[in-house]
Amino acid sequence: MITLITAIKPEANAVLAAFPMKKKDFSSFSLYESESGSLRLLITGSGKLSAAMAVTAYLTRYTPSADDLFCNLGICGGVSGEFIGNGYFCASLTEATTGKSLYPELYTHPFPEARLITSDVPVTDVSGYSEPLGNLPLLFDMEAYGVASALFHSMMPSRCFFYKVVSDACNGSFPSAEDVTGLLRPHLTPLLSFLSEKEIQFRKETDRFVEIQNHVTSLKNTIIRDYSFSTTMERRLKTLLTYAISVGFSEQELLSGLPAPTGSPHKKREALAFLQSLERAVLSPQQETLLPAFPVAKKMLRPFRHIYVEESVLHHPVTKDLAERFSHSSLIPIRHYKDVFNRSRQDLHAQETEPALILAANRGTKFYPGAPVCQSFGEEHFMYTSCIMNCLYDCDYCYLQGMYPSRTVVIFVNLDDYFKELNTLLTKHPVYLCCSYDSDLTALCGILPHAEAFCRYALSHPNLRLELRTKSAALPFIKALPAAKNIVIAFTLSPQEIITRYEHYTPSLHARLLTAKEAAARGFSLRLCFDPVLDVPDAPELYTALIDEVFQVLQPEDITDISLGVFRLSKDYLKQLKKAKPLCALSHYPYELTDGVCHYRSARCNELLQAVTDALHRHHISDEKLFFWTPGESEEGASYVTE
Ligand code: SF4
Repeated sequence: MITLITAIKPEANAVLAAFPMKKKDFSSFSLYESESGSLRLLITGSGKLSAAMAVTAYLTRYTPSADDLFCNLGICGGVSGEFIGNGYFCASLTEATTGKSLYPELYTHPFPEARLITSDVPVTDVSGYSEPLGNLPLLFDMEAYGVASALFHSMMPSRCFFYKVVSDACNGSFPSAEDVTGLLRPHLTPLLSFLSEKEIQFRKETDRFVEIQNHVTSLKNTIIRDYSFSTTMERRLKTLLTYAISVGFSEQELLSGLPAPTGSPHKKREALAFLQSLERAVLSPQQETLLPAFPVAKKMLRPFRHIYVEESVLHHPVTKDLAERFSHSSLIPIRHYKDVFNRSRQDLHAQETEPALILAANRGTKFYPGAPVCQSFGEEHFMYTSCIMNCLYDCDYCYLQGMYPSRTVVIFVNLDDYFKELNTLLTKHPVYLCCSYDSDLTALCGILPHAEAFCRYALSHPNLRLELRTKSAALPFIKALPAAKNIVIAFTLSPQEIITRYEHYTPSLHARLLTAKEAAARGFSLRLCFDPVLDVPDAPELYTALIDEVFQVLQPEDITDISLGVFRLSKDYLKQLKKAKPLCALSHYPYELTDGVCHYRSARCNELLQAVTDALHRHHISDEKLFFWTPGESEEGASYVTE
């Protein structure tokens, strides 16, 4: 369903002339509906307050589905006569008196963009708005902010559009009712055709997920009819079934060979036996396929169409440089990065392929003690820093998707403040610093100075040991930097099958290895990270083959040390990951839980790590070079992840 929202009758008349609709409701708002029921027109009355109240009343009476689309359509003022007749999607909506802004999420669309200011009275003098912040035209209306504040309470900002056609130059002369209708009319066909396409696209994405959910629910209901499952066991059953279906088990494969109910009075015991058998079948190393039930479409990365810039860093050299590099992007000034980054109901799926960028200053904590799920490599003062949040790569298992509410990449440009604080820390004790955990800094070295700046700082501070972890293959970067042993270039390596399936946009294994070889040859410390090792079908064989491939390029003496660890994630992050990647098998694996950390069974962890260790030993890597992460407690201490 698409709902168009206009303020006044002359705007609505343009819609009604193009798309015949019947009156449906006249109460606190006027509502029309097309015969098929797929298009509605809501008339709110003019002014921000009327708009907010009418939209709120409408949403209360007609509860929308998550995939319904809304478009606030209407006329607006522009800063000069040259814009009259042009139509724009609004990338930001600002309330004139408070300066508060809301940000619709815009992904691939064919329309020009603008920033809109909603005022309580018609704007007839734009001289106060002459400071050119950003590169989008400025528009003025009286409703959009009210519509947005009502819609964003329950709808995703990516399902709400604000399309404004310039009708006057904010000079006190206003168009007639006929002119308003005439101005909007030519915009309706392209706008509605775009909205219809979007609606189909959103529905397809939801349908794939709903298909799995329905399949799981029907299977689960069939099974629990014959057994007596507790609520916890039922949840575990759902997790196992979701995982099994997402890795490609057919219903028949899944259920054949499992114990049938015997009609004994010990129904709970039978249910437990069934659950254990199902788990063994689902996690059997004999699974034959790595392919998910639903093939993953090749994804195109289209980054940074929107660049949000905190007003305080609008004139920073990094901002200027990026604005030039991405001259076709919309530059949108913001007060604080959290206004965009922490929005509710963000479209994480769309952000995977079209991440926006935020340029900001970090005024808070810059250095943190290393987390228990990360390895310290025996270093006493293990710290990490986050000068970029989020990554251009898109690994399906990445903890960042569980940690952040957004896939938008935040770049803190005030590196000088980081180094000042680091100077102070280094006067107290040596520091082992990981600066590339919450992003892959090296992957961004072509457009950002961050990776190089940290390396150059380490060159002149020998009591700093710097780890730069990466999946990139940035050979020119490695070749251009002066090398030093206190700079550890740490390459995360995975079997090519896993890279292709789960590590989207990352360079191939071979390209990473060639870059690692160069890093070692130039005199950097070289760390290899087989972390996370994933429990996929045939994992021991895949990882053994990976090690063999590594030593076709590298010599044991090239390598300073090696990190090994199985996949693990905090329970809360996993919950969020399931929302971000609902179709990925890794999100639904039947993990166990120890101290809030989800992980594989201890026996499986040991089996996987042993396979990698044995392979490394065969290539003459000694135990002193190996650092492990394993679950902190024995299997007895672990419980199930049930949601
Ligand atoms: S490269 Fe690292 S930080 Fe980037 S998405 Fe993959 S796991 Fe996350």
